[in-house]
Amino acid sequence: MRLILLGPPGAGKGTQAKLLVERYGIVPLSTGDMLRAAVAAATPIGLKAKDIMAAGGLVPDEVVIGIIADRIAEPDAAKGFILDGFPRTVPQAEALDQLLQERGLKLDAVVELRVNESALLQRVEARVAQMEARGETVRIDDTPEVLSKRLAAYRTQTEPLVHYYSERRKLLTIDGMMTIDEVTKEIERLLLAIEAAEKRAKSTARKPKGSSNTSKVAKKASKTAVRAPAAAKKQATGAKATAKRAPTKAATTAGKAAKKAAFRDTAKKGAKTTARKTLKGAKRAGSTAKKAAKKRTKQPAKAAKRLTKRR
Ligand code: AMP
Repeated sequence: MRLILLGPPGAGKGTQAKLLVERYGIVPLSTGDMLRAAVAAATPIGLKAKDIMAAGGLVPDEVVIGIIADRIAEPDAAKGFILDGFPRTVPQAEALDQLLQERGLKLDAVVELRVNESALLQRVEARVAQMEARGETVRIDDTPEVLSKRLAAYRTQTEPLVHYYSERRKLLTIDGMMTIDEVTKEIERLLLAIEAAEKRAKSTARKPKGSSNTSKVAKKASKTAVRAPAAAKKQATGAKATAKRAPTKAATTAGKAAKKAAFRDTAKKGAKTTARKTLKGAKRAGSTAKKAAKKRTKQPAKAAKRLTKRR
């Protein structure tokens, strides 16, 4: 499971991230925590970020993108992760898309916690009081003045991500004004619905009617389409060759499956041109297979009838 938590400071992202980490056994990746650790250790990144963070501004994109690129490549992130506080700008979101695409990984969902701004100051004040009561060091940016700057940064630079992920059909918006427990339950409910839909889609893809050999090729094409459009194209060509040798029904199914998978997954990644090419290849696979089988079967009457029916 790969998730992003989106929301203004004080929306409860950190709290929900902790709960989701336990529930799904994935790693929490908070750029705020990583930057605070860098500041405490006085690393070059920490030195760069320190004053910006204290003032409630955003650390340059290339710095946080670099941190995340390294972190998601670590072995513990292989099972999945939950990003809290990243991405915070559209260029960061684009860089993340690119990173995931290069590694053949998919983002499952972006959970937006929508909260009433007037409640945020109270929440942050409560957080500060709790931290003080526990004897913990209070964040230097948890003051009313800095909070208003962080909120302004959220509104201008981070809120456009709501539109960005909504367009990509990744956004799940949740009322962050509910209790912690209710928010957790709602997130889990939506994530379960996504998991169930994905399982259904996978099992449908696994059950094409034709020969198992050909459907394996189609399935492989579908998987590869997720990984890289270019490789998907190659696989679709492979499917076409296999389809040529296979019986009509199986070949048609393989062609259709490869077509559907390549179009859906490739188009999702915005590689429309490649999708179109893949689609053409897959279409050709289907029709070439039909023609080849028609010639070979030498049962003109029956086969022709079946083909006409199917069309
Ligand atoms: P957070 O703990 O997420 O509220 O982050 C604390 C501070 O770290 C922010 O106010 C920013 O100064 C900085 N920061 C954290 N994540 C990012 C990010 N993705 N991009 C830029 N700055 C960030």
